[in-house]
Amino acid sequence: MESRNSAQLFERAVRVIPGGVNSPVRAFAPVGGRPRFISSAKGSILTDEDGNSYIDYIGSWGPMILGHNDERVVAAVKAQIDRGLSFGAVTAPEVDMAELITGMVPCVEMVRMVNSGTEAVMSAIRAARGFTGKNRIIKFEGCYHGHADALLVKAGSGLMTAGTPGSAGVPEGCVRDTLTAAYNDIDSVQALFEENRDEIACVIVEPVAANMGVVTPEGGFLEALRQICDDNGALLIFDEVITGFRMGIDGAAGYYGITPDLVTYGKIIGGGMPVGAYGGRKDVMECVAPVGKVYQAGTLSGNPVAMRAGITQLEILKNNPQIYVELAAKGERLRNGMRDIIERRSLPYCVTGIASLSCLYFTQGPVADYQAAGRSDTEKFADYFRFMIDRGNYLGPSQFEAIFVSAAHTDAQIDKTLSDMDDYFAG
Ligand SMILES: *Cc1c(COP(=O)(O)O)cnc(C)c1O
Repeated sequence: MESRNSAQLFERAVRVIPGGVNSPVRAFAPVGGRPRFISSAKGSILTDEDGNSYIDYIGSWGPMILGHNDERVVAAVKAQIDRGLSFGAVTAPEVDMAELITGMVPCVEMVRMVNSGTEAVMSAIRAARGFTGKNRIIKFEGCYHGHADALLVKAGSGLMTAGTPGSAGVPEGCVRDTLTAAYNDIDSVQALFEENRDEIACVIVEPVAANMGVVTPEGGFLEALRQICDDNGALLIFDEVITGFRMGIDGAAGYYGITPDLVTYGKIIGGGMPVGAYGGRKDVMECVAPVGKVYQAGTLSGNPVAMRAGITQLEILKNNPQIYVELAAKGERLRNGMRDIIERRSLPYCVTGIASLSCLYFTQGPVADYQAAGRSDTEKFADYFRFMIDRGNYLGPSQFEAIFVSAAHTDAQIDKTLSDMDDYFAG
C-alpha cells in the first residue's frame, strides 16, 4: 500500500507533477510549508489525509456555495451516472441547463457550455472579435480571466501601451492586442479607446475583482464601462466566473443593474464538476459555429453528469433566494468582526468585500485597484496564514485570494475563526 499522509503524498507528488499540484493556487509557495491533501469534505468542513479538519474558506475557489457534498447534488450526479457518463451527442440536461441559465439571467439570451472558466473567457473573446471584426481587447490590471495566452498579460507600468507577456511561453504576438487599464479608473479606459480608435472589440472585466483580494467597483465605474463600450461599438464582457450565481441568481449584472453583452461563467455553474459557459446577446451568440463563423467546440462540453450537478445546485439557489440574504449576512459578520479586530488593535490593515466575498489586506486601505492591493505585506500574511491553518481555518494560501463563505457556514464557525484571528494579533 502506498503511503498516504500529506507529507508522503507531497513527496511523491513533486516527483511526477510540476510542483506537486495541478493548479498553482493549491501550492503553499506564497505562504511556505506544504499543502494538505484533502481526503473528504462535508458542509463547511474539509478533512485532510492526516485526519485534521478545517473550516473551509475557499469552497473549491467558489463552486461549493451550498457547502461540500450537498446530498441533493450528489444524488442527481449518481442518478445520471447510471445512465452513462458521456455520449458525444446531444442530451436533455444540456437543454435544461441552457433554459435554466437564460431564465435566471435576463441578459443571457443564448448560452454555450464549455469545461472551464478559462475556456469560457477564451471563447467569449473570440466571439466578440468575430462579431465586431475588431482585434484589440481591454482588460484590467489584477483581473484574472483564466490562463489563455491573450489574457496572461502582466499588470505593470505599461498601462497605456500594449501588453507584455506575464508568462513564459506566451509569444508577444499573442498579447499584442491585449491592452491593460486600471480597475476603477475610467480615464485609463477612455485613453485606450482614444489611442485605438475603431480597434477595440471588447472590454472584459470582473465586475467584482476577486483575484487580487476583493476589490469592489466604485459607484459609476461599471455604468461608465457600459457607456464607453456603447459609444465605441465595443462589447462589454462581464467575467462572472466567481460572481455568477454568487452575488444573486442573476450575478453581478443583476446586482449592479448593468447589462453586459456577454457573460462568462465557471465555478458555481458546475456544482463542483468541471464546467464553464459563455452567453449573452442572441445576435452575438449566433456568430458561434455551427450557426456562425466563430469556431468553438468541445468533446466533453455539456457533459450530462456535470450538467446534472450544475443544474441541481442552480435550481436550489433559484428556489431558495433567502440563501443570498443569509450569505450576505455571514459575509458581513466576518467583515465586521475583522474590522473590529483591526480597529481595536490599531492595525494598519483593511477589510474589503461584498456579499459572501471578503478580504483582509495586510495594508492600509482603501484598496480600489491592483497597485493598492500590491502594497500588502505578504510576509506578514504568510505568518498569519500558518497560524490560522494550524488552528483549523483553511484560508486561501495567498494574500490575493478571496475568503469565501458558503450556505453551510454557521455563525459559530465564523466567530471561532474571528477569535483565532484575534488571538493571532494578540501575539
Ligand atoms: C477562476 C477564474 C477563471 C478561470 O476559470 P478556470 O475554471 O480556473 O479555468 C476565469 N475568470 C475568473 C474571474 C476566475 O475567477
